[in-house]
Amino acid sequence: MANDYDAVVIGSGPNGLGAAITLVRAGLSVLVLEANPTIGGGARSAELTLPGFIHDVCSAIHPLAAGSAFFKTLPLERFGLDWIQPEIPLAHPLDDGTAACLQRDVDLTANSFGSDARSYQNLMTPLTRDWQNLSAEFLQPILHLPRHPIALGRFGIRALCPATWLTRFLFKNEPARALFAGIAAHSFLPLESLVTSAFGLVLGSAGHAVGWPLPRGGSQSISNALANYFRELGGKIEIDRRIENLNQLPKTRVTLFDTTVWQLARIAGERLPARYRHRLENFRHAPGIFKIDYALSSPIPWKSEACRRAGTIHLGGTLDQIASAERDVARGQVPNRPFVLVAQQSLFDETRAPHGKHTLWAYCHVPFGCSPQRVRPVADKIDMSERIESQIERFAPGFRDCILGRHKMSATDLEKSNPNLAGGDINGGAANLWQLIARPILSPTPYRTPLRGIYLCSSSTPPGGGVHGMCGYHAARAALRDMFDKRIPVEP
Ligand SMILES: Cc1cc2nc3c(=O)[nH]c(=O)nc-3n(C[C@H](O)[C@H](O)[C@H](O)COP(=O)(O)OP(=O)(O)OC[C@H]3O[C@@H](n4cnc5c(N)ncnc54)[C@H](O)[C@@H]3O)c2cc1C
Repeated sequence: MANDYDAVVIGSGPNGLGAAITLVRAGLSVLVLEANPTIGGGARSAELTLPGFIHDVCSAIHPLAAGSAFFKTLPLERFGLDWIQPEIPLAHPLDDGTAACLQRDVDLTANSFGSDARSYQNLMTPLTRDWQNLSAEFLQPILHLPRHPIALGRFGIRALCPATWLTRFLFKNEPARALFAGIAAHSFLPLESLVTSAFGLVLGSAGHAVGWPLPRGGSQSISNALANYFRELGGKIEIDRRIENLNQLPKTRVTLFDTTVWQLARIAGERLPARYRHRLENFRHAPGIFKIDYALSSPIPWKSEACRRAGTIHLGGTLDQIASAERDVARGQVPNRPFVLVAQQSLFDETRAPHGKHTLWAYCHVPFGCSPQRVRPVADKIDMSERIESQIERFAPGFRDCILGRHKMSATDLEKSNPNLAGGDINGGAANLWQLIARPILSPTPYRTPLRGIYLCSSSTPPGGGVHGMCGYHAARAALRDMFDKRIPVEP
């Protein structure tokens, strides 16, 4: 019997759409099935608080999308994507009222670090210069033949170090240490863990090389641009189509799962070889998050003037304080003073709020285990809003007086909004050293599953979390190679 489509993609997140575009560009007929009534997964926007306030439901700040070698090949500007670069990509306030700032310019950043200036320059200048080559190396499976071995070598040794070691070794003073620690905390790992420095190096040098931009109109505009380009090429998207088992799928040569490993294990179930299924089921989760969006009557009254010019603010104080908060989370404890990530999009994008009013996006890390299936209910019951607001007040006294509306999302709420966010894990699984190498299996093509024609294309595959579409792109290329090598025959 003839196929309905050459390829079906389950899920319309950035990786699902990335995979779908790669397949349709190769001349295949492609259908995307999305469980939600809106497309985009982790790149969506909505009026979560009050009318006229547009909030990013998940992702907000996009160094990886702006730097994605794959997205660069797509005409996304023609479909309305417009990057806004805040004057300062990232500010990290300290208790003395100053803030360490990551500026676009490495030297400008370094010069604010006094005696740590030279160390910062030595660390970031080569990485920033090599960013295009380096990003091509690390935005793919680790098991590959490097095309830029010198750049990769320079990056690799430092990247492996725990962020606490590297910062204490390189920097004498708090501003540089705290700034690097905050960026490394995007790893969701305790900062004493191997490979946490990689996150500080990659995201820090991305800040210099491509910025930490935000899309005009909200992150939904990334998904809309991807989806509209896909449709222009002849692709089809169906919403409200949640897939629970393989029998629900139309007839197709290949199926790509923009779902987590745990969902793939459930959906494909007994059809997967037991050993592979066991590996998927035992893939380790990252900690979860607790998120709040605010509608504000005015900009945030930061003590540090630099924070009023920055798109992203990291709130957590010193290296030791951030390391302590992340240690608590990893041990399953809720930190009293969590590390809080904040984005203030409306300062730079007037489409996000009514005139004179503002939005604020904030989240902190919490222990994993809030999902009903996984039993560690403590985090689920904790409302982190008081602790998040105390951290904001610490660096912006009077913040609470600006609040017009709040929208909170616990780990359980996140999971309800997108099955990929089970337990509040926003990265498709922990990014510890082993799971970066074997994501989810040790292979140069970890996208392929043992079932012929079934591929995984979500952030549970390399290079992992973030809006960049690279997991989808690589997975689709693996599927295309198999189809054109005739490992997957055409049905008559
Ligand atoms: C609160 C939050 C903040 C974040 N901040 C940032 C940030 O600032 N910058 C950044 O780069 N990244 C950020 N991220 C991470 C980023 O959003 C994700 O890494 C990225 O979206 C992963 O893309 P994906 O396509 O793999 O999966 P997703 O974006 O999760 O998309 C998966 C899609 O598949 C659908 N789906 C799942 N299961 C099924 C099913 N069974 N049937 C049908 N459809 C299904 C889902 O509904 C969803 O639409 C954030 C994430 C969250 C949640």
